[in-house]
Amino acid sequence: MALVTLWHLYPEEMNIYGDRGNVIALTRRLAWRGHEVLVRRLDVGGRLDSRDCHLVFGGGGQDDQQFAVMESLRANGDILRGLAADGVPMLLVCGLYQLFGHVFRTGDGRELAGIGALDLTTTAGRERMIGNVVVEAHLAGQSFTVVGFENHSGQTYLGKGVRPLGRVLRGGGNNGRDGGEGALDHHIVGTYLHGPILPKNPKLADLLLAWALQSVGVSEGLAPLDDRLEARAHDGIVERVMGRRASFGRA
Ligand code: GLN
Repeated sequence: MALVTLWHLYPEEMNIYGDRGNVIALTRRLAWRGHEVLVRRLDVGGRLDSRDCHLVFGGGGQDDQQFAVMESLRANGDILRGLAADGVPMLLVCGLYQLFGHVFRTGDGRELAGIGALDLTTTAGRERMIGNVVVEAHLAGQSFTVVGFENHSGQTYLGKGVRPLGRVLRGGGNNGRDGGEGALDHHIVGTYLHGPILPKNPKLADLLLAWALQSVGVSEGLAPLDDRLEARAHDGIVERVMGRRASFGRA
């Protein structure tokens, strides 16, 4: 049995469309395999303990909430970049995805400085991208569909140091233009998808967990779980959005 410490970034400010559900999914899926999870929170003004961190999650928020956490996040920037370089897995959704990049230029002219852990920049567009999204994701040698819900004004463009999490089959994704959704660098996954994303996308959840177990030195693989309910939730959305029968795990 392993003890995994998960840091939840700014749960008060950065939690929309059920993003907190990702922490529940990660915790339950580890507990079902007999592992224990300690959830610690990073609040504004707090400091992340890099000696005790195996997994990081941060959700989305409105521009004002992003503004409210920005300085504190930057104060933890060295620690987070160091953990990322050490291979600690991180899932960042929407608002914190943007702030893990270099900068987010808001629609009202503010420049929100990010921590530059991901090589990307975001600028608000005139129209929000809102709706269900289906992505064909490619990571860790696997390809599978990922479903979720997006609602953002920011248009994100990736630099050379990162690649997209996948290709949008439906929805706007990073910027509504280049067909990319999210970002992947080492074990950091950034995405615009809420929902929350992980309960309906157990393959993505298990990849993050496998990486987290590696960071606590557990090398044995994750035991399979009965994911029939999760598969129905996932496939139902693909079917609704794509208008055709879905096959879980394949595009
Ligand atoms: N405020 C950001 C935007 O609109 C992020 C929104 C979000 O986290 N859903 O682009």
